[in-house]
Amino acid sequence: MKTLALLVNFHRYPSRELLWDGKTATERLRALVQSLEPEAPILEIGPFKDTTEYLEALVTACQGWEEAVFFAADAPYTRADVSSQLLHLHRRYRAEYTFADGFPSGLTPEVLHPRILPTLLEWSKKKPSPAGRESLFQLLSTDINRFDVETHLSPVDLRSRRLSLTADSARGVLLLRRVEPWNSLPLKEFLDNLEKMGALVRTLPATLQVQVTNGVRQVPQWSPHLQFDPRALEARDFLSRQNWNRLLDSMLSFAGDLTVMPGFWGEPSMHPQICGLLSDALAKPGLALCIETSGLGWREDDLLLLSRESRGNLEFIVELDSLVPETYLRLRGDGFEEALATTLRLIELFPGKVWPQTVRMLENEDEMEGFYKYWTEKAGRVILQKHNHFGGRLPQLKPADLSPWARHPCWHAARDLAVFLDGTTVPCRDDFARTQVLGNAFSETPEVIWNRGSTLFGLHLSQNYPSVCRNCDEYYTFNY
Ligand code: SF4
Repeated sequence: MKTLALLVNFHRYPSRELLWDGKTATERLRALVQSLEPEAPILEIGPFKDTTEYLEALVTACQGWEEAVFFAADAPYTRADVSSQLLHLHRRYRAEYTFADGFPSGLTPEVLHPRILPTLLEWSKKKPSPAGRESLFQLLSTDINRFDVETHLSPVDLRSRRLSLTADSARGVLLLRRVEPWNSLPLKEFLDNLEKMGALVRTLPATLQVQVTNGVRQVPQWSPHLQFDPRALEARDFLSRQNWNRLLDSMLSFAGDLTVMPGFWGEPSMHPQICGLLSDALAKPGLALCIETSGLGWREDDLLLLSRESRGNLEFIVELDSLVPETYLRLRGDGFEEALATTLRLIELFPGKVWPQTVRMLENEDEMEGFYKYWTEKAGRVILQKHNHFGGRLPQLKPADLSPWARHPCWHAARDLAVFLDGTTVPCRDDFARTQVLGNAFSETPEVIWNRGSTLFGLHLSQNYPSVCRNCDEYYTFNY
């Protein structure tokens, strides 16, 4: 069998010099390949700007080979035992694609017959998307029945844990360090330990919600905003550019990378210096922005400037809730035409980075299919957001219950921080009443604030919830 081993870099995170058992991730992988397939040449590739570039590189690299094995170059704990089982499975059943399911990311390779790559390349051109660890599987899923696919299932299903044992961020490296003592254990024991790792799974913040203004242009029917700020429609207080930059710089130096959401209980477009704030943020290495907005009040000049300054690190979620003017008026108020026009303009300026969103509730349930089809065609992506009744502080309007059969610790307590205009920091958007204050982000260090959050996470682990969390069903929603 003519086998080529590929070490694929998906990120630019500088983990090359980090050591595990005295070796870099790449050195460990090279040793693993040599033990598995001593004759196989090893080629290191990536990162890539999108899946098309990734597939083009693969088509070229794999020409003349009968089998390609893909290892993530930043995955030092890739398992030799599972890799060997995958290769065996692939060869025994003459598969075209073989993958492992139910394992954390970074433990297993993929195996593929290069003859399927031209088809995947064609499909990638029809639906451009960022190149990532899931890209091959996602492309195959376009029409998976066309291929002979084999799956190796994990003895412990860890999919819901969203663990990534990869050195692609400071969070990932910290997790790898914590798991290091178990790395040489037999597979089942190793996975059992991961399943029970409890508080160790909370590493560093990934999402930072920031209130840049307390003003809004609308209060949609699904929002409790007027409960805690009855003046929200008239409020006009703004975060200073200096505090914005200080906050982002300190959080970034602590977390390494971050997704910042400046739509936290306020409409970002109302900030008089919004373009300056966002430009400053876009220039910071490791930072990505996700702007939740009504789509109202944006200036064309600002959007043009931002489209030039964005390096793929700016996304928009436009809260529309309906495509029907009458429903929009009922749910959100005036502004339908402007919100629609802004969404279409954003899609032109930021292709692949705009998510038209509707909150799915009894009121608009009949419109879901139309909304989904229309925006999938225009934007290539849509968010059908579950209705949030904020732990009972709003009427329950969700038409279907999508919650997991067993409650797990909240993703927001594990990954998020949310900062109000005055610096008060809480774990999440739902704590608008500030019951779980972790500190003040303008006067305390991110580390102190973040570490205080471990108490709340510990309560979740022991299923002993404070009142704000007790009836909250946002625990299974995930930001970044
Ligand atoms: S359970 Fe709800 S209130 Fe509690 S931290 Fe999670 S999102 Fe916030």
